[in-house]
Amino acid sequence: MDEGLSPEAREAIGRVASSMRTCQSVLFVTGAGISADSGLPTYRGVGGLYEEAHPEEGIPIEEILSGAMLRLRPELTWKYLLRMERAVRGARPNRAHEVIAEMERRFNRVWTFTQNVDGFHRLAGSRHVIEIHGDMRDLVCVNCGFRQTVENYEGLSETPRCPVCGGLVRPDVILFGEMLAMEKIELLWEQLDLGFDVVVAIGTSAMFHYIVEPVIRARRMGSITVEINPARTELTPEVMVRVPARASLALDELWRRLVGT
Ligand code: NAD
Ligand code: ZN
Repeated sequence: MDEGLSPEAREAIGRVASSMRTCQSVLFVTGAGISADSGLPTYRGVGGLYEEAHPEEGIPIEEILSGAMLRLRPELTWKYLLRMERAVRGARPNRAHEVIAEMERRFNRVWTFTQNVDGFHRLAGSRHVIEIHGDMRDLVCVNCGFRQTVENYEGLSETPRCPVCGGLVRPDVILFGEMLAMEKIELLWEQLDLGFDVVVAIGTSAMFHYIVEPVIRARRMGSITVEINPARTELTPEVMVRVPARASLALDELWRRLVGT
């Protein structure tokens, strides 16, 4: 279903485009909504990923997908990891990911700070990406640390084992109850300290303080702040320009305005 862009969204994109014409640096903060246009379910939205998962075990999905459960009952965590991966297999980055990757070539300094674990930013060609929750295609052995990157989970056994030592293999992502990687947070704050002319939050319900804070900090430091999301979120009152639109449509239009086609 393609409703196109509303007049309100077009007007807002026009304002973003004029502020970006002379800018040098942009930070994108992205969440599950940017991959919704690739057919991936979001987390909390209607039809969201976890809303639809009614674990027959009667255990909340957040517990099943937790670090504690992976240690206790790895076969249960993997059952749902495999199921979730199968549901999104074959999906590809969309126009929004592509435009962000093109922007890396257009502006001096572009960074993308994402909560997504689909790896789509890097697949689309972005190089300055901080994947704060990791990438589900990166697998690591909990015993010996052996790493492998897979295209998808096809062919993995029900509880994958390490080819080197036979230890338990897990996706290198932040499961519920696990700590973020300090070096990724530090890299983000290092970049924030350098300042960004424009900060664009896309498709995140912004429930995590480490998503909201960078946007607030950037605004205090003088960045122009933008949110692209069909719905209102925690971030909406914090941004200067709200673009009520789907990510792929909004970024495609923004790109057209920037390159003048
Ligand atoms: P969320 O599901 O909480 O919020 C998604 C947001 O995207 C909502 O505000 C919604 O209005 C908006 N949205 C929906 N369709 C959109 C579109 N076409 N364009 C722009 N915005 C759109 O997602 P979150 O804030 O990223 O938090 C979800 C958590 O779940 C994260 O921790 C993330 O790691 C994980 N997750 C990742 C993926 C993925 O890798 N693609 C998918 C689902 C969940
Ligand atoms: Zn191993």
